[in-house]
Amino acid sequence: ASGYSLLRDPHHNKGLAFTEKERDAHYLRGLLPPVVVNHDLQVKKMMHNIRQYEIPLQRYQAMMDLQEKNERLFYKLLIENVEELLPIVYTPTVGEACQKYGTIFKNPQGLYISLKDKGKVLEILKNWPQKKIQVIVVTDGERILGLGDLGCQGMGIPVGKLSLYTALGGIRPSACLPITIDVGTNNEKMLNDEFYIGLRQRRASGKEYADLMNEFMSAVKQNYGEKVLIQFEDFANHNAFDLLEKYRTTHLVFNDDIQGTASVVLAGLISALKLVGGSLADHKFLFLGAGEAGTGIAELIALEISKQTNAPLEETRKKIWLVDSKGLIVSSRLDSLQHFKKPWAHDHEPVNAFLDAVKSIKPTVLIGSSGAGQTFTKEVVEAMSSLNEKPIILALSNPTSQSECTAEQAYTWSEGRAIFASGSPFAPVEYNGKVYVSGQSNNAYIFPGFGLGLIISGAIRVHDDMLLAASEALAEQVTQEHFDNGLIYPPFTNIRKISAHIAARVAAKAYELGLASRLPQPENLVAYAESCMYSPKYRNYR
Ligand code: NAP
Ligand code: MN
Repeated sequence: ASGYSLLRDPHHNKGLAFTEKERDAHYLRGLLPPVVVNHDLQVKKMMHNIRQYEIPLQRYQAMMDLQEKNERLFYKLLIENVEELLPIVYTPTVGEACQKYGTIFKNPQGLYISLKDKGKVLEILKNWPQKKIQVIVVTDGERILGLGDLGCQGMGIPVGKLSLYTALGGIRPSACLPITIDVGTNNEKMLNDEFYIGLRQRRASGKEYADLMNEFMSAVKQNYGEKVLIQFEDFANHNAFDLLEKYRTTHLVFNDDIQGTASVVLAGLISALKLVGGSLADHKFLFLGAGEAGTGIAELIALEISKQTNAPLEETRKKIWLVDSKGLIVSSRLDSLQHFKKPWAHDHEPVNAFLDAVKSIKPTVLIGSSGAGQTFTKEVVEAMSSLNEKPIILALSNPTSQSECTAEQAYTWSEGRAIFASGSPFAPVEYNGKVYVSGQSNNAYIFPGFGLGLIISGAIRVHDDMLLAASEALAEQVTQEHFDNGLIYPPFTNIRKISAHIAARVAAKAYELGLASRLPQPENLVAYAESCMYSPKYRNYR
């Protein structure tokens, strides 16, 4: 291979870090300026460049360009500056990137499978240059973050998630495959946008949709075997629950919106208990939003309480109430409810307004998962604060514009008493001379380590107990020092270590449940997980 093509191969390019010897051996002389710099200086320079951009989307583009130019530098940058760059490569900036994907789209960063490809999905998978795939993140673009249907332009999401799988969970980049299934879009703006990159038609549904998904799922198993993890991402809830239900017994599938969210929020609640006291069973939960996130979290809380108290799920679910767009979910609505809401229809008179639901249910924990911003109003937060000494308030809706309330509002309206975390990050808030640092219930705490745990144990199925194991492992990473600062999640700076712990616990559960295929079981799973993690260190080329 020529030096020129080496510089254009993102998997091998080192840019100015090629040594004198490498420059001689690989025909690079003259193609680079004379200076030789080390990896650390390259990171420093790139961060300097990126910080020059004031607009987040420009920072996103600079990161994507880097990923296409020098993969190892991209990952070193991301790993060493995770707190600063996570909001760029993932929520909130990735949402804006998806909205404008038509104009910023450059090289294909993943596979597109559309209705036009029916009958040819296996062929498409074979077109992908990498053969040893361990994790696929797939979307159909119908519910991108809290932004709705972005059709084919949802591709930014699988690409972003997989870069986190590598940076935070240590999955090799070459083992990651982003996929977008394009069955059309119902987004008028996209349909009328001349730069839209997807199929210009309304979404397929019913049999046509199910057939394409089925062909996809079969082709994946045929091409990559039984141990490839398929993560469903940002599907609308009318498909998400069904897909998970349908494939969980035949494939290694994980829905991050339902299961990953549940696990990360449960972890936050377990650690919040150290601040407010009591056990989970002593608390009462009210959700605004009864979709994938809301019902997924609710179910995992009920499962954990049931494990702790030996009470049946039907009983523990009664501590949890949900509100959807039609008001409180109550038994009189049972017949008209979607199936995933039915377990939550408890006996209570109908309540329409959310504030009235808060006053009537008297929850200790308030969780926003509706995608609708500014719904935790001053009155709502004040009601929570009059009911509780330390109200737990989680505003999960993404991106920032959709957050139920801001960190500042939560602390101000609760007079500094709220234990607050949010889906998108907020800067620290000063209130009455004290600085409040809020946590971020970011799925990125869980899914990279969770996936790593599945992979290192060779798990063939996902089990809910693995989600509980992941939550406990994450909650254990919160130290007294963090609690003293009001934090219910550990800082992201140590995320690779946290991921290794989560991976070890998930793997241990896989072995315990007889779902692991990598035998014998390694003795020290944390050490084993760490040893499996990808490092972005440059290789020496001879
Ligand atoms: P989803 O499945 O579409 O569910 C949305 C739910 O909210 C539905 O039950 C819907 O009611 C309800 N809803 C919508 N607008 C409402 C309003 N104005 N008042 C009351 N209820 C309303 O969406 P999802 O996957 O659960 O995601 C919801 C949000 O959570 C998104 O913004 C997403 O970004 C965020 N999220 C955050 C995290 C995190 O922080 N880690 C993780 C996952 C998701 P109907 O059922 O009646 O339509
Ligand atoms: Mn998602």
